[in-house]
Amino acid sequence: MEKMKAIVLHEPNNFTYTEIDRPVIGDYDVLCRVESVSICGTDPKIIHGHFPGFWPQHFPIVLGHEWSGVITEVGAKSGYFGWEEGDRVCGIANVGCGYCKNCLEGRFTLCLNYGNEKVHKMYGHITNGAYAEYIAANIKSIARIPDDMDFNTAAVMDTFSIALHVVMRSGLEPGDTVLVNGAGAQGWFAILAAKTMGAGKIICAGSGHRLRMAQKLGAIPLDYRSEDVAARTLELTGGLGAKRVIETTGSAKGIRNACVAAARGGCISCVGFPNEDVPIPVKRLVMDEIDFVGNRGNPNTLEKAISVAHYVMDEINMLITHEFPLAEYAKALEVFENRLDHSLKVIVKPQWLK
Ligand SMILES: [Zn+2]
Ligand SMILES: [Zn+2]
Repeated sequence: MEKMKAIVLHEPNNFTYTEIDRPVIGDYDVLCRVESVSICGTDPKIIHGHFPGFWPQHFPIVLGHEWSGVITEVGAKSGYFGWEEGDRVCGIANVGCGYCKNCLEGRFTLCLNYGNEKVHKMYGHITNGAYAEYIAANIKSIARIPDDMDFNTAAVMDTFSIALHVVMRSGLEPGDTVLVNGAGAQGWFAILAAKTMGAGKIICAGSGHRLRMAQKLGAIPLDYRSEDVAARTLELTGGLGAKRVIETTGSAKGIRNACVAAARGGCISCVGFPNEDVPIPVKRLVMDEIDFVGNRGNPNTLEKAISVAHYVMDEINMLITHEFPLAEYAKALEVFENRLDHSLKVIVKPQWLK
């Protein structure tokens, strides 16, 4: 059995950089040499045991799901679909069963066999992921990247494609005003997704250097700590409110602001969620016909994200602030989690380990 280096999570808050067997690929998989993995906000939560029995379902596990790399081996049937050794690719977490009603309708992040490891995969959550030299990835979870897209940019296409899904589900049309609630990864990428889709005025509520980054990306900044987000949004939109609200904070206050700041006939598209349910002003949503939609992952938006990324390539590169070798994962996680050194997206490089 060939070996590889990986970050193995043995139990909550206990991971090591160690050597494990290289994964064996299935017929519809490809083996990829992992070049870049972007740390996701969900990773530290999984590490700290915030989703017991759900993410992961068992230990040990290799986390990491925002990744890019190169195909080094093609599964017995993957070649039928055109995949070849040497292809540069990036991946997402979810692999639906492909057969249930939701999968057949393209809504594979809502797979009815979710979590059944015989037929469903979720890399870096339930199935072994990318914090390793190699990943065995199902061909349903990967996309080709253009020659001029570097691996770090490709690794964050997972994040970008989620934001794109959230913005698409808001019903954004060219010229629409947008309020992005929250200046974190989903907020920044939602700004970029809205820009590529032709948004009019984009307002972003956040704080500190993360809000300044939102401004650099093209949004009008609102500091939620010193300003009334809903009132200022109404002012900035001529009293109408934002036609599309992208809610990424998952906080009671953020959700409340979203409901007040949305325009009549508008839409609130949510990706953040609170641990406890929060009250929402249903009467307002009903009387003003405001849609309130939830979003799960990135169904069929990875290729779309890759296609539009070139319009915002400089902005995406501004969001990638740090790189570490995989061997220094603990340090990378610390920098990411504690936002040290103004870190935004932090990348680990499994091939730098030697
Ligand atoms: Zn992620
Ligand atoms: Zn399914």
